[in-house]
Amino acid sequence: MALISKKFNDALNVQIKEELESGYLYLSMSFWLEEQAYHNLANWYYIQAQEEYIHAKKFIDYIIETGGAVELLELKKPKNDWASVKEIIDAGYAHEQHITKCIEDLWELAEKTKELQARTMLQWFIDEQVEEEANATELIDKHKGFKNDMLFDLHTTRAPLAPQ
Ligand code: FE
Repeated sequence: MALISKKFNDALNVQIKEELESGYLYLSMSFWLEEQAYHNLANWYYIQAQEEYIHAKKFIDYIIETGGAVELLELKKPKNDWASVKEIIDAGYAHEQHITKCIEDLWELAEKTKELQARTMLQWFIDEQVEEEANATELIDKHKGFKNDMLFDLHTTRAPLAPQ
C-alpha cells in the first residue's frame, strides 16, 4: 500500500507545477536582464531557475518513494515584458512569498491527512523558504543603495549551484 494519500499526492503534483512555474518565471527574468546587459543579475536569476528544478525533483522523488503517482501539469506562461530591474526584484520577492504560503498549506494538509513521513521533506522546504525570502529581500535592500542599475548589477554576484 502506498505511504502517500491521494489528497497529498494531488497537492504535491500541484506543487511540482508551482516549482516549475517558478523556474519558468525566473528564466523569463533572466533572459530579459540578459537582453538589457545586466549580466550578473541575469546569472542570479538563471541560477535561481536551476534551483527550482531541484525543488521540483525533490517532490517528484518523494512521491515515487512513497508509492504515489507523479503527474506533470500544464505550466502557466510567465510574464515576459519586464519594465525594470526594480519590477523584477519586487516580483521575485512576491513570488517567493506565494511559494512560502504553498508550503505552509502543504504542511497543514499533511497534518490533516496524517502524512507523518512527509515532515522531514516539508521541513526542508520550510527552511529553504526562509533562505529564499531572505535572498529576495536582500536584493531589494541592496538595490536601494544604488542610483544606477548597471552599478547594482556589477555588485551582484551569485556562485553556481553546488552539484547535488
Ligand atoms: Fe522553489
